[in-house]
Amino acid sequence: MKNDLFSSIINVKGIGPKIKKKLEEKNILNKADLLLNLPSGSIDRRFCPKLDQLEIGKISTIFVIPIKYSFPRIRNLPSRVTCKDEYSKIDLVFFNSRENYIKQMLPLNEEVVISGKVSLYKSKYQITNPDYIRTTDKGTNIQKVMSRYSSISGISDKTLQKIFSDEANNIEELDDWHDKSFLEKMKWLSWSQSIKRIHNPIETDDVNKNSLYYERLAYDEIFSNLLIFNEIKKRIEKIKKIPKQISKLEIDGITKKIPFNLTNDQKNCLDDIIKDMKSERKMMRVLQGDVGSGKTIIALMASYLNCKSNYQTAIMVPTEILATQHYKNFKNILDKTNINIELLTGKTKLKNQKIIREKLKNNKIDILIGTHSLFQDKIEFSKLGLIVIDEQHKFGVKQRINLSLKGTNNTDVILMTATPIPRTLVLTNYGDMNISTIKKKPFSNNNLTTLIKPIQKLDEVIAFVNQRMDNEDQIYWVCPLIDESEKLKLMAAIKRFELLKKKINHNIGLIHGSTKKEDKEEVMQDFIDGKIRGIISTTVIEVGIDNPNANTIIIENAERFGLAQLHQLRGRVGRSGNEANCILLYSSAISETGKKRLKIMKDSNDGFYISEEDLKLRGYGDIIGYQQSGEKNFIIADPIYHSHLFELAKNNLDLLEQNNKSKYEILLKIFKKDRILNIIDTG
Ligand code: ADP
Ligand code: MG
Repeated sequence: MKNDLFSSIINVKGIGPKIKKKLEEKNILNKADLLLNLPSGSIDRRFCPKLDQLEIGKISTIFVIPIKYSFPRIRNLPSRVTCKDEYSKIDLVFFNSRENYIKQMLPLNEEVVISGKVSLYKSKYQITNPDYIRTTDKGTNIQKVMSRYSSISGISDKTLQKIFSDEANNIEELDDWHDKSFLEKMKWLSWSQSIKRIHNPIETDDVNKNSLYYERLAYDEIFSNLLIFNEIKKRIEKIKKIPKQISKLEIDGITKKIPFNLTNDQKNCLDDIIKDMKSERKMMRVLQGDVGSGKTIIALMASYLNCKSNYQTAIMVPTEILATQHYKNFKNILDKTNINIELLTGKTKLKNQKIIREKLKNNKIDILIGTHSLFQDKIEFSKLGLIVIDEQHKFGVKQRINLSLKGTNNTDVILMTATPIPRTLVLTNYGDMNISTIKKKPFSNNNLTTLIKPIQKLDEVIAFVNQRMDNEDQIYWVCPLIDESEKLKLMAAIKRFELLKKKINHNIGLIHGSTKKEDKEEVMQDFIDGKIRGIISTTVIEVGIDNPNANTIIIENAERFGLAQLHQLRGRVGRSGNEANCILLYSSAISETGKKRLKIMKDSNDGFYISEEDLKLRGYGDIIGYQQSGEKNFIIADPIYHSHLFELAKNNLDLLEQNNKSKYEILLKIFKKDRILNIIDTG
């Protein structure tokens, strides 16, 4: 009964409404979910010593006869049951157990099997709150390896263990979706057998990430992930669009307007993009490049060429400040062309929003730059030919699919991301996209120095800042990061600003979460124009802001930022190739990992290296922003540990015949990938 896998867990032996509710809180809804909740470890109960061979600290299964009870009448003192075998004695110690229960479980003079960790108390052996007590006629089968699960509050570990191992033992054999020969080659068992074995291990290693059973299940998850991306890609490739008309003349024209020469990497990326635009397939391309690698100009050129072939462009960025900056930058470079550029953010006045919407519909706007507000339902483009999404890492896969459906068949999509993506994650997160990479930055950052200082040295740092400013440098100062309410955050930022204003000899400005848009822009503009020498801010400067004359950044509470974020922040300076400085201030609350992170920052300025290290430190988690977008990570596979399985899955998928996919239906359903296809199908 294959479909049984997808029936509610209420049908599982041992699960009533109460336990069902607890499991559902952990996203365990059907039997498949239950079975895929793999053990977090195992307990070895195979050690069966006689009582004269006990070893302290070892989990032991012993066959003994209870001979004496002791139930102290004083509160908090544990009950004891003295037991013996033919060689010696041991005490079983019970906290919080009722007398009746103990007497019932351990009747005097009848042999029982006990399992638990042996300890020594007042030079006598004892087992405290044993995990297992059975009469010997029922209990012989506890001398084995048992699976152990992450605790779920409200369900006892013993109950949990029993539910899982019983259910795994009960599943029926499925027709396997992988070829027999492949399974044989890998020495893998069938899906059901692997599930059975991992919930009912024979060896302690069976539950480990590298066991044959675990790897088989991890591979399934990986394969289903790649399969679905492949499917999305195929469906997108089937879409026919009208190729964009892009002439050499236009390309030369826009190249001349750029105030510098493109680097080779930039040229190659632009070529990829132009080729895609001219083809009859919809472009779905990631443009990845470290902070400061010069992605914006590529977006600008692509937008220009798109407009020249009579289509509109939408550019979406995560913050208003960034939208404004791009807007000004585009206006500036495309000044003497007849291209109409507009800015639309959540804060654009309603009246103006209406005008913009009207113009957009009538094809009077060529390039619209803005935040999320670009993709509200009421916004209609007349001929949307290109969507560019900057700093894409804040979006998840589903959001991305939704977005690409917003346009028409003729809409090309570019995602620009500054989070360098390790190869495994490219496979898992962008399997549906093509990738272009700017590897080398226009300026090398050999002149960047990173220092790590305790916050106690604040005065020294302020002196340094004064000295830099005297030398015409501009600085970013990132305020302490606090978990508190917006109001307290605000106060922290203002307090820091007041202090710095007193101690810094040049003009400085403040930007924080509640600064009004106009004020923010004014401060930013003053900063870019050099009227103020320093910006004190909360992390709003994180993404994208570009002021080539600012070459020093101070980051307070640096230990509380993730590596990717620190790298982004630091990427604000050293953009002109000038000498640049980054000072990471830490507080006494710094953790061991925090220290490691800061050291990585000090040692390297290579975004790819940093993100690989980040991955190692954190493990696979929210590195690509899955967490922010609320999408679920892999539940079994570990993209770092199992990277070999990713390669294997990729190769096998490439070999797979087109019409051979139906056999994976159950696999996709088990991992809930079928839902993603539904989004595409229903739009
Ligand atoms: P990011 O990739 O982080 O978005 P930007 O596009 O903001 O980087 O570019 C960083 C800075 O480098 C900008 O000031 C930009 O004008 C400049 N820049 C980009 N490409 C080049 C180039 N080929 N030569 C010189 N400067 C460049
Ligand atoms: Mg950028």
